[in-house]
Amino acid sequence: MAKAPQTDTYTALVNQPLGQKIAGALGLPRPAVLRRYEPGQTLVEGSVLVLGGGHAADEAAAVLLDWGLDVRRQSAPADRYGAVVACYDDAGTPADLSATTLQLGAVQRKMGPSARVVTIFRDPLGSDRPAVRAARRGVEGLTRSLAHEMRRGATANGIVLGEDTALSAPGATGALRFLLSAKSAFVSGQFIPVSSDAGALPRDWEKPLAGKVAVVTGAARGIGAAIAATLHRDGATIVGVDVPAAGEALAGVVNSLAGTALQLDITAADAGERILAHCAERHGRLDIVVHNAGITRDKKLANMDAARWDSVLAVNIESQLAMNRVFLAATGQGVVADELRIASLASTSGIAGNAGQTNYAASKAGVMGMVSATAELMSPTGTAGGGTINAVAPGFIETEMTARMPMATREVARRLNSLQQGGRPVDVAEAIAYLVSDAAGGTSGATLRVCGQGMMGA
Ligand code: NAD
Repeated sequence: MAKAPQTDTYTALVNQPLGQKIAGALGLPRPAVLRRYEPGQTLVEGSVLVLGGGHAADEAAAVLLDWGLDVRRQSAPADRYGAVVACYDDAGTPADLSATTLQLGAVQRKMGPSARVVTIFRDPLGSDRPAVRAARRGVEGLTRSLAHEMRRGATANGIVLGEDTALSAPGATGALRFLLSAKSAFVSGQFIPVSSDAGALPRDWEKPLAGKVAVVTGAARGIGAAIAATLHRDGATIVGVDVPAAGEALAGVVNSLAGTALQLDITAADAGERILAHCAERHGRLDIVVHNAGITRDKKLANMDAARWDSVLAVNIESQLAMNRVFLAATGQGVVADELRIASLASTSGIAGNAGQTNYAASKAGVMGMVSATAELMSPTGTAGGGTINAVAPGFIETEMTARMPMATREVARRLNSLQQGGRPVDVAEAIAYLVSDAAGGTSGATLRVCGQGMMGA
């Protein structure tokens, strides 16, 4: 697994007894050490309280019991919770939010470090009745605010069910498991839409990608190397793609994962065909594509030249559009799986904008637009007829790139989120691994932020 540059000495310091005291006395941020996933780890540390009176609450309780968790339907004074699942699927008016929300508030102080709150509600756009839509949007608002209030590495996120989607649908159950687990350590204040019954739960939750062949572009280092390692941990065979200049590093990564390497500039006109040919020849199939390769060429627009603008757009979005055309045309024809899973790297810069990054933000907002339109082509009624595509938008991640920022800028940037720290490449990789799994088959066209609820674009 690629190591994150260990540059956040502040977080290490404030987690020592003396540092904790000083930071407390001075009112300084006290970021927690986040619980991260390790194979064999308990899904939730402590009991899980399920609140709410609709169908989703009964279904959630059944699913959680099936996973061997200690499930409670009512809080008791001595209980300590590792997670609370608050179900609002039957909310018809904002007044309906009160009972469940106040019960949720009453147990806030009983939640442990890195605990989870998951709210479950229906898509606001699924109803045209003002009171219903107000109630559903209300759950969004309360979840986001609660995420800002969570302490000690705890998070709050939501699952947005389609009008006819049950919590027992594979995609909803898969989203619940991801959000409860330590795999979502740096995801907070976010919502996972599950709009169909498509997808399937894995036979083995430790190997959800068993038997799959996954292409990861930009796999030689950074987030791409972490994605390759994480997909491999989950059972996939890795095809690492990177430019010839990064060939040695790429070989190092894929050899350690028993995968294969393809030296390729993804802006080449035949990049899609070369990836398909490599997969056909070396592995006989292609199930997963992760468009991770990306570049920055920052300049304020007044100083922007054509080379900077064009290269960023070419690598970060044009190449993906061209490769997807090839993959979608080949879906279900031998090499490419019927249910192709594509994930693409966006950025919170593409949501909030960032000075000096008009080119980068255009490309990353472009990724989100591309993903939502491609999802329609890949829907059962679309021309490609099968599979899913989603984006992940990372916020501040501890990589070589962010380690090179001036110290003061870096220190401010990494504290500007609810978890008061930078994420790690593995946090992005976990979100990608979830989205390309069959357990996320009910989610397509979405962008999931992995940003610790960054204030940028909040
Ligand atoms: P990185 O620069 O460390 O790695 C990018 C990799 O992509 C490199 O190995 C590079 O050789 C490869 N690459 C670049 N151009 C290529 C091309 N034309 N063909 C093939 N490979 C090419 O970057 P990173 O920080 O690991 O970022 C990975 C992705 O995550 C990028 O899309 C980036 O925009 C996105 N992202 C990163 C952050 C962050 O904080 N690091 C935040 C938001 C989004």
